[in-house]
Amino acid sequence: MKKSANPLSLETQTDKKIWLSSPHMGTDERKYVDQAFESNWVAPLGPNVNGFEEDIVNFTSCGYAAALTSGTGAIHLALDMIGVNPGDFVICQSFTFSASANPIRYLGGIPVFVDSEEETWNMCPKALSNAIKACIDGTIASNYPALGLDKHGQLPKAIIPVDLYGMPAKMSEINAVAKEYGIPVIEDAAEALGSSIGGQYCGTFGDIGIFSFNGNKIITTSGGGALVSKHRKFVDKARFLATQAREDAPHYEHRELGYNYRMSNICAGIGRGQMQVLEERVNRRREIFDAYKDFFMSIEGVTFLEEPEGFFSNRWLSTFLIDPKKTGGINRETIRLSLAEKNIESRPLWKPMHLQPVFQSFPYAGGNISKTLFENGLCLPSGSNMESTDLDRISGVLKKIFKH
Ligand SMILES: *Cc1c(COP(=O)(O)O)cnc(C)c1O
Repeated sequence: MKKSANPLSLETQTDKKIWLSSPHMGTDERKYVDQAFESNWVAPLGPNVNGFEEDIVNFTSCGYAAALTSGTGAIHLALDMIGVNPGDFVICQSFTFSASANPIRYLGGIPVFVDSEEETWNMCPKALSNAIKACIDGTIASNYPALGLDKHGQLPKAIIPVDLYGMPAKMSEINAVAKEYGIPVIEDAAEALGSSIGGQYCGTFGDIGIFSFNGNKIITTSGGGALVSKHRKFVDKARFLATQAREDAPHYEHRELGYNYRMSNICAGIGRGQMQVLEERVNRRREIFDAYKDFFMSIEGVTFLEEPEGFFSNRWLSTFLIDPKKTGGINRETIRLSLAEKNIESRPLWKPMHLQPVFQSFPYAGGNISKTLFENGLCLPSGSNMESTDLDRISGVLKKIFKH
């Protein structure tokens, strides 16, 4: 059913829900899934898994890729391979989804959260450097006595920067700091497949990168993730650990703790179809972002995150900041609630991890940048399957709020 684009008719519509970001299938997903059924490859592993991994490698030039059950699982495996043990420091961007940090705790590690900078909203290289120094010289151990840490300090085991909302983090600065201390970098590119810096794709900047194919991401396998690296040993080891760390023997022989994290051949079939439309999906998300930006252009107090020189964002979610002092008191909640009334989903920006009850007792390095982003930012519906009538409905609500 086509809906009228006439904003005057908005009041009378019983409107279908507009989601923040919902799955958007292409044309060949079913073909690959059918092939799996026809050949009875209804299992973890199989030709679609291999094909999907090849697609990821070919698209991103990441070197090697292992398809897994989730992005969270990919981070868990990365930290395990790097050798994170109970009591080890792992530095993590605070402004992110909890899945970036949860696996640190699965292994008993101590997350050290780091603030963002304003140009990308991602990990601040300066705050990172300060955090590492505070880990090494024992400042963190003495400032957080409840953690019962060794007062001599210790070198962090890993650094997890995030390319949030598709915007690449300042990876060359972050890598430079990491290299100075010889700390491995795990790039959480869960939201940033298709984003790049200077033509190099996100996920490929660290020692290990991870992607997510959860239902709300830029492409989906219904649920899934990938671990990628230019080092073959990491990807081989990830595949091994993800299949219960089964040794090469006729019986089941295990020397290490394993996981059940391998992607199924059915999900990978969806992924193969989705990889064919990834570029289209990125283009559409960027179009939606530009439409919002145009809409808000003349409204004072609303700002969008620009791409720094050479940075390319997949604009996974369209986000903006609002300054209630400049909008006559209109804040992110005014907008969120007005949209919700019309059955339109929007969401505040990620609440930083250092402010989350579950992580509050862990160390934090930085100021109030991520906190301010959380307080003043909103994500608007951004799905690549949104129609222009959906955008009309959204701008209709916004027009009313801003009497525009
Ligand atoms: C989605 C997401 C993850 C986790 O991915 P799943 O596949 O949902 O486990 C990790 N980090 C970030 C930043 C995410 O947005």
